[in-house]
Amino acid sequence: MVPAVKATQLTKRYGDFTAVNNLDLEIRPGECFGFLGPNGAGKSTTMKMIYGRTPITSGELQVLGLDTKTAMRTIKSRIGVIPQEDSLDPDFSVLENLLVYGRYFGLKGAPARQRAEELLAFVQLTEKAKTNVEALSGGMKRRLVIARALMNRPELLILDEPSTGLDPQARHLVWSRMRTLKAQGVTLLLTTHYMDEAAQLCDRLVIVDKGQVLALGTPQELMAQHAGAWALELRVAPEQHATVLQRAERVATAHEAIGDLLVIYLPGQAEAEGLTHELRSTGVPLQGYQARPTTLEDVFLRLAGRSLQEG
Ligand code: ADP
Repeated sequence: MVPAVKATQLTKRYGDFTAVNNLDLEIRPGECFGFLGPNGAGKSTTMKMIYGRTPITSGELQVLGLDTKTAMRTIKSRIGVIPQEDSLDPDFSVLENLLVYGRYFGLKGAPARQRAEELLAFVQLTEKAKTNVEALSGGMKRRLVIARALMNRPELLILDEPSTGLDPQARHLVWSRMRTLKAQGVTLLLTTHYMDEAAQLCDRLVIVDKGQVLALGTPQELMAQHAGAWALELRVAPEQHATVLQRAERVATAHEAIGDLLVIYLPGQAEAEGLTHELRSTGVPLQGYQARPTTLEDVFLRLAGRSLQEG
């Protein structure tokens, strides 16, 4: 099967600064693939190379089996792009924005109108067809950009930070539409700095930081490989950390210390509860504790040594 995207040693430099560094990657047709990383990790730059907004500095990049250096026009006709900034035309109504966009792909007349109406229904904007885009809320604008990106029935849909700036309700609608598209066979490629978005939507993902891939896998694989199924968060004075870690050694798979917060990763809930019980009964002064399932945020913390939201 031809990969939806294949990058080999893909690199992007802006002057002396390397934004994307030797990226190797294969995205399978039909999967939802995520780029998870903090601001400045190089996610948007990678997307822009894939959809032809910025040239690659070195390496190889194929999209739908075609070389981005020579076949960008064909690639653009077969992909859909939802960029971070909403690039809607403020002079036109909701429906007109779709019709004007459709013309780039040779879509005109009744078939264009039918496709536009179908898509407005899909993103729940039928009632707003005649409204000027300036009068739409942020969430509605994002939904319209999604509809617009679907006008040419793309095989690959690229979404750069699809839910940034949306309220929870708008976010869930976007997620639900993404799931429907995936069920229809569309390959989805998204960037996000929200670990829950990546965990909810992605079949596989890469964790990126400073232009480099730190890890690749399914959310479950990443959590199992780099942390453990459960995390025990302890608030305990830094001078007590060594004592606690000595007790945890037998069962812990890993740990991280951030100030007085000690996070101990464990294979399961039973181990987390057992260790909490043991620490309390042996009189280690705990100021607070919480056992919880591991998240992708923990994986990032383990790999990068800081939190995803710190940037
Ligand atoms: P992300 O999408 O992960 O937040 P970006 O790809 O937008 O990251 O940016 C990666 C790095 O490249 C950042 O440090 C950013 O400042 C830099 N960068 C992005 N675009 C440009 C540009 N046009 N010129 C110079 N530096 C840029």
